[in-house]
Amino acid sequence: MFSYRHAFHAGNHADVLKHTVLIATLDHLLEKEAALTVVDTHAGAGLYRLDGDYAGTSGEAAEGILRLLAPAKAAPAPVPGASPARKTPKKPAAETQAPLADALARYLEVVRDFNPNGGARVYPGSPFIVHHLLREHDKLKLFELHPTDARTLDANIAQLEAGRQISVLRDDGFGSATKFLPPPSRRALVLCDPSYEIKSDYARVLDFVAEALKRFATGTYAVWYPIIPRPEAHDLPRRLKTMATKAGKSWLHATLTVKSSKITTDAAGATHRPGLPASGMFLINPPYTLKPLLAAALPQMAERLAQDRNAAFSLDSGG
Ligand code: SAM
Repeated sequence: MFSYRHAFHAGNHADVLKHTVLIATLDHLLEKEAALTVVDTHAGAGLYRLDGDYAGTSGEAAEGILRLLAPAKAAPAPVPGASPARKTPKKPAAETQAPLADALARYLEVVRDFNPNGGARVYPGSPFIVHHLLREHDKLKLFELHPTDARTLDANIAQLEAGRQISVLRDDGFGSATKFLPPPSRRALVLCDPSYEIKSDYARVLDFVAEALKRFATGTYAVWYPIIPRPEAHDLPRRLKTMATKAGKSWLHATLTVKSSKITTDAAGATHRPGLPASGMFLINPPYTLKPLLAAALPQMAERLAQDRNAAFSLDSGG
């Protein structure tokens, strides 16, 4: 069975990118009164303790959300000669850092809502972020296959007493989530956020999005993916772009890099793997408001979450 547990990674740089995009997208979609259905194909446990054993073991939140909540620190200098598509953040001076961009400030506001006593002991995963923003007449469909996380998700969601507004399904999100498309109100946001621990996840994302678009061409689709040295990961955004373009749909692609992907060897001959260096969000039918919001937020994410001089971002759109 699966070994990936999101609790080890909650609040890391990938969650910062993903959840900032998710909130900015939802904020726009919720401006219209008509009911919205949100489908989260890979929900995780829903809510995480950043002071708990899991998060403490990996320390990933310390390089993600906790850096944004902490007072500003200077980041490493930019890489000279970075390709034009991958913009390198300007070197900030701690004391002259600009106020947070709207999308990033809004993300922090949502995380703070879960921590009324300050700090960030609790980190909301996508199910709790979405529920926090939804109105009573909107719906949320959650898929989680891991037996332990599905149980935890169930228990966490039960506390919300949301009744029929939220459905938790211990089922395969790739195989079953399209059954909710199109929803009765014909307005939906689908978040597809697999762990990619199985190589076939990349192909399954593509099959899932192709099928979803066939059933419901006007839905908004948001796919998170890791940027790692693996051909499938490299191909995924390219293929999603081709799919969107062929379907005549608009798309947006945002990436955030926080460090080099190079495996290094120290003087004692020990090999050091860098962990996840970068990730991307690919959206089909994104809100028109998203690009300007990310254009302001991404440089700040790269600047403030930089772990070395390779920190960078990119933002592209079409259709
Ligand atoms: N979306 C969550 C968030 O932003 O808080 C994080 C999700 S985590 C990256 C991916 C989750 O997908 C894991 O909890 C894993 O157990 C679950 N999973 C893996 N394969 C799945 C599948 N085929 N269907 C549904 N869930 C799956």
